[in-house]
Amino acid sequence: MRRSYGDGALLHSQRPGADMAQPATPQLAIGLDVGGTTFAAGAFTAAGELITDGAWDTPPSTDASVVVEALANGIQEILATTEVDIAQLAGLTVAVPGGVDTATGAIKVLPNLQVLNDFRIVETLRDKLGDCPIFLANDAYCATLGELRYGAGQQVENLLMLTLGTGIGGGIALRNQVIRGPRQIMGEIGHMIIVPDGPKCGCGNTGCFEAVAGKQAIIDRARRKLQYGRESCIDELTGGDPDQITPQIIAEAARQGDEVASEVMNEIGYYIGLALCNAIVMCDPDLIVLGGGIAAAGEVLFQPVRSTVKYRSPYTGFDVSNIVPAKLGNKAGIYGAAALVWDSLR
Ligand SMILES: [Zn+2]
Repeated sequence: MRRSYGDGALLHSQRPGADMAQPATPQLAIGLDVGGTTFAAGAFTAAGELITDGAWDTPPSTDASVVVEALANGIQEILATTEVDIAQLAGLTVAVPGGVDTATGAIKVLPNLQVLNDFRIVETLRDKLGDCPIFLANDAYCATLGELRYGAGQQVENLLMLTLGTGIGGGIALRNQVIRGPRQIMGEIGHMIIVPDGPKCGCGNTGCFEAVAGKQAIIDRARRKLQYGRESCIDELTGGDPDQITPQIIAEAARQGDEVASEVMNEIGYYIGLALCNAIVMCDPDLIVLGGGIAAAGEVLFQPVRSTVKYRSPYTGFDVSNIVPAKLGNKAGIYGAAALVWDSLR
C-alpha cells in the first residue's frame, strides 16, 4: 500500500467492470468523503452501483490550497478510471466532517481539519476541475444517507447513525429522509455535552462527546493506565512505544482478553451508550447504526454500548439488538455523497 502526501496517489482502488468498456457510458455521480487523516472518492450509477473508488491521505498541510489540490487530484484519478469527462458527470458531492453552508458552498468549521475552516470549497474545486454541479454536505449526513439507502438501514425508515472516528459525527433519518435542520446541525451528536468540564473539544467547548470518546480520548485513556506501570499486551503490540498506540491496537488487545484494553473499551462503550440514550429520546429511531474506524472494534465495543443502553434507557425500552454495525463500512460516506447528487438533481 503506497502512502504519500499531497500528490493524491491511490492507496487502493477498484477497477471498472467489463460493462464499462461499452461506448454508452452510464451517467455517473462522484461522492467525495473528506476526513482529517484520509479522504475517499467513488463513482456511482444512479442505481447506487459503485463503479470505482479510491482512498488517499489528507495532506497534513496548513495551506488550504495544498489540501484542495490533493482532493482535485483524487477526483481526476476517479474520472480517468471511469473515462468520463467532468462535463459528462451528473455531479459531485463533497462531504466534510463539520459545519457547512449549502447555499454558498462554503465550509464553516471543521474541528478536525481546521485548515479548511471558512473555505469556499465548491467554488475552488469548480475552478480546478471545470464546470459541473458540485454540492457540499456534512460527512455524517452522507454516511447516514448511504446506510439508509444501500446499507444496514434499508429495511427501516427511522435511523440514527454515529460515525466514530477522529471525531464523532451523527445523522438522523426520519420517515426515510435524512434531516439536517435549517442551520445544518441536527444530528451533530459529537458536540453533545457528556462530561461538563471534561476534556477540551476541537470546537472550543469542553466535555463534548467527541472529546470524551473520540480517537484521541481512547488513546489517552490507554496511555494513562499504562503510565501506572500496569501490565498489558498493548506494550507488546506497540513495541513499548506509547506514540504507536491506536484505537485499533487497543481493540485488538481487548479481543485478546487484555484487562487494560478491555477497561478502555468498557469506558468508551459506556459514554457512547449514554450518548445513545440521550439521542434515542430525541429521535425515536428504529435502528442505530455505528460506523467509522472505531466501530470496527466489534463486540468488545458493542457489548458495553448495548448494556449501557439497556440499563440506562428504561423509559424508552429500546431493543439493544437494534444497535448494529454499519454495513458499508468506511464507504458509507461516498455512497451517501453520490446519492445526494441524484437527490439534488431530482
Ligand atoms: Zn465539541
